[in-house]
Amino acid sequence: MSFSQLGLSAKVLAAIEAAGYKQPTPIQEQAIPHVLARRDVLGIAQTGTGKTAAFVLPMLTQLEQGRARARMPRTLILEPTRELAAQVAENFEKYGKNSKLNVALIIGGVSFDDQDAKLLRGVDVLIATPGRLLDHFERGRLLLSACELLIIDEADRMLDMGFIPDIERIGKLVPFTRQTLFFTATMPPEIQRIADTFLHNPVRVEVSRPATAAATITQLLCHTGRDPHEKRETLRRLIRGAENFKNAIIFCNRKREVALLHKSLVRHKFNAVALHGDLDQSARTAALDAFRKGEAKLLIASDVAARGLDIPDVSHVFNFDVPHHADDYVHRIGRTGRAGKLGTAITIVAPADSKSVAAIEKLTNMTIPWMEKSATVATEGDAPVEARPPREERSRGEHRRDRTPQPRRQHPDPARAPRSRPQRDHDEPDMSHLPAFLLRPVSIKA
Ligand code: AMP
Repeated sequence: MSFSQLGLSAKVLAAIEAAGYKQPTPIQEQAIPHVLARRDVLGIAQTGTGKTAAFVLPMLTQLEQGRARARMPRTLILEPTRELAAQVAENFEKYGKNSKLNVALIIGGVSFDDQDAKLLRGVDVLIATPGRLLDHFERGRLLLSACELLIIDEADRMLDMGFIPDIERIGKLVPFTRQTLFFTATMPPEIQRIADTFLHNPVRVEVSRPATAAATITQLLCHTGRDPHEKRETLRRLIRGAENFKNAIIFCNRKREVALLHKSLVRHKFNAVALHGDLDQSARTAALDAFRKGEAKLLIASDVAARGLDIPDVSHVFNFDVPHHADDYVHRIGRTGRAGKLGTAITIVAPADSKSVAAIEKLTNMTIPWMEKSATVATEGDAPVEARPPREERSRGEHRRDRTPQPRRQHPDPARAPRSRPQRDHDEPDMSHLPAFLLRPVSIKA
């Protein structure tokens, strides 16, 4: 099927051609005609399936008729994170360049007054995170009574982030007669309940089973010990030893861990940025930009912060922590191996993680192989370490050195050997201030 058969306007078709898209993705093919027919749609699709364009393209066509009034947006898109909201706004810029629409981004962490001025001018498309939207509403700066179309994107992530009460409240502020599009990657019972209350006689469009990992991803497990210091060391070895490394996303379960790991990797001279909920907006945007442009090779992130971000071409995903929810594993590793490219996903497994690994294997219906011990025991060198450039950029000598684990070189006379202080990680006790005799091994006679 081609885009021209979906009922989109000539302006939108021209923008699609300019974007270089040859044919609609399955979610676009199935959803666009229903959206244009003003039906409610329940879309079950992950990011990477082209789901954003599945609602942005028909919206652009619909919005060509009519115009916005001050403080009364015509359409509303709710997103769980600021980055996702910004990404959807970028889609409107890309596909809407032939249409003169006012798009406003209402997210936390940026100036309230600029957003207010935009709302006053009249908005065709309002893209918002729930909290900031309700702030504007409570201040009396926004009315949702003229909103004809409501889109709830990443609904299951909204649930994880505790936004459902806000979403339900916003739902009551938008006229009952509106059209609603509801997208989620998974369908737990609570999301089914919300979908039932929001949607009227919806068309259900499902493009891939939530628990399928792309066949282009090599998945591996790697043993580590309980000690956090050892875990970080394991990760550093994995990064250094990674084949065909270009860049990587490293996932942690908690934002505190993201911050700690980021500090540790930077101290070890890795070119890394972090993305977690406690960073202010400008720091989050800067981190993401640096990673997208290739200036930073490692992005350390929590599930919440990274969910849904469109970062093409990631060669590796490392799970520093095994995710507690097996669904998250599928989302995480889906950041690599996109669009037919090859990717590698390595999960670091401590002894306490066996239950979570079993749940992942059950959900994905596969046994994930363990890495061979030899692949993970390379010693850490003394030289400053950096995320390695892609294989093709490395010289032959470097290549050989990287692959063969070298023991530390020994001084011929141990007594005169310079004392080298091992590189410390942040939670290892600092013993450099202790007198040497206290650090000498002692033998105690019975
Ligand atoms: P999404 O699932 O919305 O995050 O989209 C994933 C990526 O697919 C984005 O980078 C889009 O630019 C791209 N994309 C969307 N629709 C198409 C299409 N019909 N053909 C090729 N790429 C597309």
